[in-house]
Amino acid sequence: MNKEKIQEIFRVVRANNSNVIPEVFSKQIFEYAGVNIPKQEISSTEDEAVYLAKKIGFPVVLKIHSFQIVHKSDAKGVLVGLKSSDEVREGFREIIQNAAIYNKTSDKFQVTVQEMAEPATEIIIGMKRDEIFGPVILFGLGGVWVEVLKDVSLRVLPLTERDVELMFTEIKGTSLLEKFRGNEARDLASLKNLIFQLQNLVLEFPEINEIDLNPVFLYEKGHGNIVVDARIVLNTVSSLYIEEVISIE
Ligand code: ADP
Ligand code: MG
Repeated sequence: MNKEKIQEIFRVVRANNSNVIPEVFSKQIFEYAGVNIPKQEISSTEDEAVYLAKKIGFPVVLKIHSFQIVHKSDAKGVLVGLKSSDEVREGFREIIQNAAIYNKTSDKFQVTVQEMAEPATEIIIGMKRDEIFGPVILFGLGGVWVEVLKDVSLRVLPLTERDVELMFTEIKGTSLLEKFRGNEARDLASLKNLIFQLQNLVLEFPEINEIDLNPVFLYEKGHGNIVVDARIVLNTVSSLYIEEVISIE
C-alpha cells in the first residue's frame, strides 16, 4: 500500500474544503491499495477528452468530475460505451451542460475519461464507522438485489477469511456467485482479496469514515474483479479536532 500517495490525496481533498473524495481520487486510493480499477484521466476540454479517449482506447466511459456532485447519474453525468471521437466530443458537452443545470455553482466542471470495463456480476461493498461497533462492512449483489430486496450481509471489522466466506453464502442471491446451469462460478478468491484490501485501508486510516464501492464488476473464476465506482468519505475536520483534544487529555 502506498501510504504517502494516499495521504497526499487526503490533503488535496481537505484543501478543497471537502471530506467527500470524488470518484477518480477514491479509485486512485484503491489503486494505491493494490486494487484493480479502469484506466481513468481527467479532462477539462473536448479536445483533451478526445485525446485521452484515443489514448485509453474505445469504447470509453465519460463521467462528471466535481467536488460538488456526488451522485453522478442523478446529474445525468455518466455516459457509457462511447465508440468514436465524435461521440466523446458530444458526450463531453452534454455532461457539462447537465452538470450546470443540476448544480448552479460557478464551478468549473471537468469530465473523466475511463476505460470501459466488460459487464459482469455487479457487487456492492460498503463500510461505515458505527459509534458503538466501530467499522461495519456491508456486502451484497448490485442493482435490484440491494435496492429493492435489501439483500445484504453485514459484519463488524476486522474480518477473518471464514467471516468473508460466510458473508458470501449469507445473502439470498448467493447462488448467482456459484456455478449453476450454464453459468460459471464467480471469482470469489479475488472478491475476498478485495474485501481484505478495503479492510487494510480502513484499519490503516482512521480518518476514513465511509466507503462505497458501487459497483464492483466480478468476473468468472480466474478473471478477477474491477472497481468501476468508488466513494470515500473522510471524517469532518471538527471531529478530527475533537480526536486531537481527547488525545491531549
Ligand atoms: P453513480 O455516481 O451514479 O453511481 P457510476 O460511476 O456508478 O455513477 O456509473 C453508473 C453506472 O455506469 C455503473 O453502475 C456501471 O454500470 C456503469 N459504469 C460506470 N463506470 C464504468 C466503467 N468504467 N466501465 C463500465 N461500466 C461502467
Ligand atoms: Mg455508482
